[in-house]
Amino acid sequence: MIVIRRPEEADALLDAGTMRCPQCRGAVVRWGHGRARTVRSVGETTLTVRPQRVRCRDCGATHILLPTALQVRRADSTEVIGNALVHKAKGLGFRRIAERMGRPESTVRRWLRRATGEHVQWLHRRGTERLVLVAREAFCNIRYVGNPLGDALCVLAAAAVEDRRRFGFPDPPWDLIGIYTQGCLLSPPRSG
Ligand SMILES: [Zn+2]
Repeated sequence: MIVIRRPEEADALLDAGTMRCPQCRGAVVRWGHGRARTVRSVGETTLTVRPQRVRCRDCGATHILLPTALQVRRADSTEVIGNALVHKAKGLGFRRIAERMGRPESTVRRWLRRATGEHVQWLHRRGTERLVLVAREAFCNIRYVGNPLGDALCVLAAAAVEDRRRFGFPDPPWDLIGIYTQGCLLSPPRSG
C-alpha cells in the first residue's frame, strides 16, 4: 500500500515515472484498479473511490494507492476517525462519542480499542518525526494535554499546521495526518 495525497498528484507521479515501490524503490506502473470503496465522511456524506493499483517493475510487487482521506480497511474517513480520537483524548467515552457523531456504539468502541498503548506511542513518533523535519522550533509551542493519546494528536496536529504554513499545502490537516500515519490512525486489524 502507498498512501497518496490526491489521485491527481499520484497520476502526475505515475506519468513521470517517479513513484517508487515501498519495498525495493523500483519504479512502479499502473496495474488496474482495486474494487470501489464507499466510506462515510463527516455527518451523512459519503466518499466513493476506486483505488489505483500499481506494480513494481523490479520486484513485481503490486500496491494499492490509498488516498489519505481513507483509512486502511475502515468504512469511515480519516477525518471521522480522527475526530473520534480527539473526543476520546478529551475524556469522552464511546457511548457519548457515538451519539455525538451519529455512529453505532459498537463501531466507535472498536476504534477506541485500536488507539491505545504501543500504537499511540507510534502515532506520537510519526508526528515527532514530521515536526522535526518541518519546524523543530515548534515543539516549544505545543501545549500538551497530559494523556498519551491527546499528546500524540497534539504533535500530529502541530506538524500538519506547520506543513500547511511552511509549504502552503492546501490539504485539510487530517489528510496530512493520514499521510504521516500511513492510513493507520488505528492499529491495523490482524489480517485474515
Ligand atoms: Zn519493488
